[in-house]
This record gives sequence, structure tokens and C-alpha cells, in this order.
Amino acid sequence: TIGEVAQKRDYNAYAVGGFVRDLLLKKPNFDLDIVIEGDGILFAKALAAHLGGRYRKHERFKTAVVLMKNGFKIDIATARLEYYEYPAAMPTVELSSIKLDLSRRDFTINAMAIQLNPARFGTLIDFFNCQSDLKKKVIKVLHNLSFVEDPSRIFRAIRFEKRMGFQISPHTRRLINNAVTMKLFGKAADMRFLSELKIILSEENPLPALQRLSEFNLFQFLWPDLRPHYKVDRRYGHILIQAQMAISWHRLLYLDEPCQNWMVYLLTIMSRSPVDILLRFCKRFEETQKNTNYLRDQKILCDRAIHTLRRDRRMKNSEIVACLESIQIEGLLYMMAIARKNHVKKAISSYVTTLRELKPAVTGKDLIALGYTPGPRFKKILDYLKNCRLDGLAASSEQEILLVTK
Ligand code: ATP
Repeated sequence: TIGEVAQKRDYNAYAVGGFVRDLLLKKPNFDLDIVIEGDGILFAKALAAHLGGRYRKHERFKTAVVLMKNGFKIDIATARLEYYEYPAAMPTVELSSIKLDLSRRDFTINAMAIQLNPARFGTLIDFFNCQSDLKKKVIKVLHNLSFVEDPSRIFRAIRFEKRMGFQISPHTRRLINNAVTMKLFGKAADMRFLSELKIILSEENPLPALQRLSEFNLFQFLWPDLRPHYKVDRRYGHILIQAQMAISWHRLLYLDEPCQNWMVYLLTIMSRSPVDILLRFCKRFEETQKNTNYLRDQKILCDRAIHTLRRDRRMKNSEIVACLESIQIEGLLYMMAIARKNHVKKAISSYVTTLRELKPAVTGKDLIALGYTPGPRFKKILDYLKNCRLDGLAASSEQEILLVTK
């Protein structure tokens, strides 16, 4: 269909990037990236009309997204030439051909295309010997200035290496080391750093990639207050594994509760850093105000709560709830990762699995039926009943009613 819609306008259409890579690796990939030789935006409009979907355009970059009713998404770009005025600058855009488009990509494994026009449908386009790199499982940049243009590609190289079990080629490793020594981290790329870091921290197992980041001395760039080697290898190794275990544990509870895993890891990595260092990190990498506030609140609340939990081994359930109830799931899992004492871990896990859901059986309606008039006392009574439930003083609604009427 895509090829036919393109052909009608005399455009060439190609599937590119990760989709082609994963297709050749026989791995599923539901993100279809299309490059058009022609006008990508006009094409997106025609395709959306043809498929009965919607489209959103980005004039400046000549890109668009076609959104289908079933949730499937197709990214469309115009084959283009990017001029880098200075390292890590944002690109300006001009129409050009598929070869130039592919030559600007991050790694050879991502620089292949498949023709979609009917006459040549399915033809693999490989200008840079990419297929052979894919077979050899190596990650290679396309040219020596690749990391100068965009240092966030270093994070991508590490992610692909660890996710797919590939190897970064020796030459590309040298270029990474050069980029790190030259401190080539331009301002415009900062947002991309954080988004790449978030993808790494959201992988099924981000620990090997984090280890690799530290091997390339990138921790000192991300978290300059940490002494790179000692802390990363010894202490962080351990608590990062704990973070991963907490995240897997939470997933296995099948609560269907969304959790931003990257936040759990970020809080864990920065567990010994004061709040203002976390804020400085968010600012430097241009994190949104919403996420910055969220992370700040979790850090402050968790560091305080863990202190309280640590001090008292025999806390009542109602006290555990009072201590943890303003903390979100990312914070709770972070606390599980850094808790050293067993009774602290136990308190948090029982809060996550049961305590936080516990409610009194008696409701506001019941209180009205018992002759109470709605008002501020209602909440007090219901909170009291909840605590009784939590601490085992009432196990049924009858017992709760008895407590109220007493
Ligand atoms: P994933 O499976 O993680 O989505 P992907 O390869 O599809 O992997 P995307 O981030 O969606 O990754 O990027 C799509 C394509 O765009 C890549 O395959 C690559 O060709 C190109 N690309 C993405 N980021 C860069 C970059 N920083 N520099 C050059 N090319 C890039």
C-alpha cells in the first residue's frame, strides 16, 4: 500500500532504520520508519487518507506521523541533507536522496533501506556493507566525525551493544574514547542525552549498559559528584541489582500499575547525592519541570521515610502506612533498592502488596445510616477505622460498627 501511494505521486518510498535491521534479524519491530524521496508531508497526507487514519506533520523537519485507528504508527521522513554548522547543532533541512539520508544515520546496522515501490518491492538497499556488519554483530559508525556531530550516539551504541549482544567495533570504541577525552558534549545535544539515557534505563536489564557507560568514563560526565570507579563498581553494582530486583518483583505482582523504571534507577544511582545535585542534573539535561518536581519529591520523601522505618523495628501497620502513603511507586521501589535492613524491605513490600489497598468496610453511607451528619469528623472516623483494620483491631464491618458506636 505504502509503495502504491508513493508510486502514484512518482515518489520513492523506503522502509529504513531499526525496522530493516530487526527484519533481517527476524525480530519483531512495530515501529515502521519510512523515508520518502519526494515530499514526505504530502505523502503522509495521502497515506492517511488512503488508510483512513490521521496524520501529524512537523514542517521544519519535513517529517510526519500517520496514526491508524488500531494504534499502529508510521513515521515518515523526507530524504534529506543535514548541514551541521557546528558540532552537535540542530540540523537544518533540505530535500535530497536516500543515500544521503542513510549516510547520516548512527550505525551501519541502522543504515539499510528496503524499497517499497511496487516495481522493486522488497529490494534491500545497502550502500555501506551494512548487512555484513549485522551478520558479524558489530556496531560501527559510518564516519569518523559521527560522535562529534552527535555525542548522544555513544549512548545508542552502548544500548544496541548490550540489548542485542553485539560488539562495538575497535575503531568505533576509539572514537568514543576520543569523544569522551575531548569532552565533546555540546549544549544542543543535552536533551538527546537524557532521552537516550532514559531508554537505556528502561531496558529489561540496564545494568550491563550502565557498566559500559562507566567503562567509557561517562559517569563522570553524567554524575560528576560520584567518584567513578570505586563507587560504580562496588556500591552501585549492588544497589542497582537491588533496584532491578525490586522492579521485576513489582512487575510479577501483575498489578498493571504503570511504573517509570528509569526513575527508579536514576533515584538509586543518585541515592547518596543531595537533592540539589539531582535538581542540577535535571536542569543540565533539560528534564521537564513536571518530572523534575516528581523526582525531587520522591527523593525527599523517601530519604526521610527510610530513616523513620530504619529506626523502628516494631512499627504498627498503621504507622507504616502513615510513613509511606505520600510516596509513589517509583519511590517505593527505590526505597526497596537502597534499604539494607530486612525489616525495612519487609515493611515496604507489605505496604505495596496489601497495606496500601486496605480500607475500612464501613463507608460514609453507613455512618449516615448510623445517624452521623456528614462533615470534617467523617474523615477522622474513617481514618480511625482504617487504622483499626490495619492493626488488626477490627476484622469485619460488625466490629467496625461496634468501634464507632462505642
Ligand atoms: P529501537 O528498536 O530501540 O526503537 P531504532 O533503531 O528503531 O531502535 P530509533 O531511536 O527509533 O531506534 O531510531 C530510528 C532510526 O533513526 C535508527 O535506526 C537510526 O537509523 C536513526 N537514528 C536515530 N537516532 C539517531 C541519531 N542520534 N543519529 C543518527 N541516526 C539516528
